[in-house]
Amino acid sequence: MNFLEERIVKDGVVKSGNVLKVDSFLNHQMDIALMEEIGREFKRRFGSKKVDKVMTIEASGIGIAAFVAKEFGVPLVFAKKSKSINIDGDMFVAEVESFTHKNKNQVIVSKRFLHENEHILIIDDFLANGCALQGLISIAESAGAVVEGCGIVIEKGFQIGGRVIRNMGYHVESLAIVDAMDAESGTITFREQ
Ligand code: 5GP
Repeated sequence: MNFLEERIVKDGVVKSGNVLKVDSFLNHQMDIALMEEIGREFKRRFGSKKVDKVMTIEASGIGIAAFVAKEFGVPLVFAKKSKSINIDGDMFVAEVESFTHKNKNQVIVSKRFLHENEHILIIDDFLANGCALQGLISIAESAGAVVEGCGIVIEKGFQIGGRVIRNMGYHVESLAIVDAMDAESGTITFREQ
């Protein structure tokens, strides 16, 4: 088991509805030493790529992506969830269905912060059905930016997102892939990588 899988086994909680709670160390309270290690691991995995900017989606991606951006020495831009229907032409927009809240949000990135031919590394905490990643990819591509890859902290391999995004031709690296989890017993099975 790698450092993250060990931590998930120790402190993760399997909830019903295919939800894994990691809020004691990743997306509510954050273990900063672990974040640093995650940042270094993504740098190791994507270090041979040209990365001009890291991109994520609010809220839980931001903390993680910040450590990745620091490793690469580049800015981080995060897509904002927007309720406004009057989005002007200064924004790139995508519609994203939330896995955890089951609602749809428009997510926006200002055209000031994403440019043609910029090389982007997308980072997020979880990959489930792939809606968040697809939204971020669509925003990057409408800007004419180049998506170098997607770095995911925890992929739920029994949901379709990983397959969909890889089949689209994108390089996805997940630090832990959960192949099965059971809310009753609390057991979590990881994919050998
Ligand atoms: P997707 O868009 O791939 O269906 O879901 C990814 C997004 O939903 C992530 O940004 C993450 O915030 C949230 N998410 C999906 N599955 C889980 C989960 O099991 N636990 C937590 N905490 N968040 C999840």
